[in-house]
Amino acid sequence: LRPQVMNFGEVLSDLTMLLKRLLGERVELDVRHGRDLWPVRADLTQFEQVVVNLAVNARDAMPEGGKLSIRTRNVSAAEAASLNYPGMQAADYVLVEVQDSGTGIPQEIIDKIFQPFFTTKEVGKGTGLGLSMVYGFVKQSGGFVFCDSVVGEGTTFRIFLPRHAGEA
Ligand code: ADP
Ligand code: MG
Repeated sequence: LRPQVMNFGEVLSDLTMLLKRLLGERVELDVRHGRDLWPVRADLTQFEQVVVNLAVNARDAMPEGGKLSIRTRNVSAAEAASLNYPGMQAADYVLVEVQDSGTGIPQEIIDKIFQPFFTTKEVGKGTGLGLSMVYGFVKQSGGFVFCDSVVGEGTTFRIFLPRHAGEA
């Protein structure tokens, strides 16, 4: 694990070609970055794996095609406090939102998706380790991850990582 100071927007821009390949032709990819994103401190390779895991899950949830939107933006301490997410402090964060137009996740299982080896996929198609890796990364980076999903509409993952204020 080698945390480094990085800019999400730049890393995601570098990943765009890979993501397009992963998603295939039937899934539209729409990546938009907020202006003047604050730096965050995290392991770059792990962050890339997180994004790839979320994109693969989104693709699997959109067998007929659909849309994957990735958004980044700064979230001020005041806004973070007003969001009322459990555990989140009144501190500055950078937010990455990954939203798909797929099947959605039934309420009965949404509490389990971050558990290691939890999968609804056929044998050989999923290990159930993707989201537990996402969770581990976020915790190691001092951040938070939340999932909102509506069956038949789609799923949104929100990753908040603390703004890096010190020197690189
Ligand atoms: P795997 O992809 O190997 O099944 P993950 O940990 O990546 O394991 O995901 C666990 C489960 O969470 C999936 O099997 C699926 O049921 C659900 N899931 C994750 N992401 C999505 C998504 N974007 N849309 C619908 N269901 C999802
Ligand atoms: Mg997965």
